[in-house]
Amino acid sequence: MPDSFLMESKNTPPVCNYEGSDYQTSFWDQGGREYEDRTEAIALKRLLPKSGRLMLELGAGAGRNTPRYLGFDRIVLNDYSHTQLEQAQARLGKSEKYIYVAADVYRLPFVDGLFDGATMIRVLHHMADAPKALTQIKNVLTPNGTFILEFANKLNLKAILRYLLGRQKWSPFTLEPVEFVALNFDFHPQAVLNWLKELDFSVERILTLSHFRIGVLKRFIPTGILVFFDSIFQWTGAWWQLTPSVFVKAVGTKQASRSMKRELSVLEFFKCPDCGHSPLVDKSEYLECPNCKKKWEFKDGIYDFREPMDTHNA
Ligand SMILES: [Zn+2]
Repeated sequence: MPDSFLMESKNTPPVCNYEGSDYQTSFWDQGGREYEDRTEAIALKRLLPKSGRLMLELGAGAGRNTPRYLGFDRIVLNDYSHTQLEQAQARLGKSEKYIYVAADVYRLPFVDGLFDGATMIRVLHHMADAPKALTQIKNVLTPNGTFILEFANKLNLKAILRYLLGRQKWSPFTLEPVEFVALNFDFHPQAVLNWLKELDFSVERILTLSHFRIGVLKRFIPTGILVFFDSIFQWTGAWWQLTPSVFVKAVGTKQASRSMKRELSVLEFFKCPDCGHSPLVDKSEYLECPNCKKKWEFKDGIYDFREPMDTHNA
């Protein structure tokens, strides 16, 4: 668990901020999460399209999963934390392939219909208003774009047992999310599927992960064996979802009205997150909105759309 803290931003739900967090090191590199990491790699391979043009990775963090999006020409790494993106940049390098954008998922700075793929893994977990975030994502995807979503499942075996034994107050069987720690939410699978359906997504595949996320198993059974059995059990997600982590592949149901005739420049990706205007004007150290005049910083290869520049002078 990172030292997360709450940030209130205008008219949007609070954001779980990983700024300055050593999440990558403490949780993934030294936290005994090799099993989770390897099972996620397998799930992504099973769900990702073979190829694609432009991928949006929401909550990219330090870029742990980014190299797995091999088939996509370009990838936009989005995170609310600037320092996480700096870590990702140090890991992946500055290249045409990767674009780093600090932004609030509730105020995405991208034009509609831009991405043909998006992923959000271990992020919905921190969403106080999940449907609002999912709507934003739907808007920036092409009408037939692919969305791969991971969510933490409240209807997991451990929670069911604890509830039935009277050791847990909240019911795992009801549709509303449970906030078990501030800004940490588990969701009912049916609730997530309902939200996706309302947004005109068709769910093509469901995989369940972390069947063996149990301390004693992880300590005494070689990781490779747990990963092997988890990879087989993942397919049972098609019939029931009782594991702590669920992956969903959702695809937009409408045909794209027009094919992208030419490759867009990065500048053309963006809209002003405050007023929605596009295009923005490139002023080299920042992008300026010609409509509301707000300035959005571009520094050391990272676009920052969280707060406009010079707000303290305004
Ligand atoms: Zn504007």
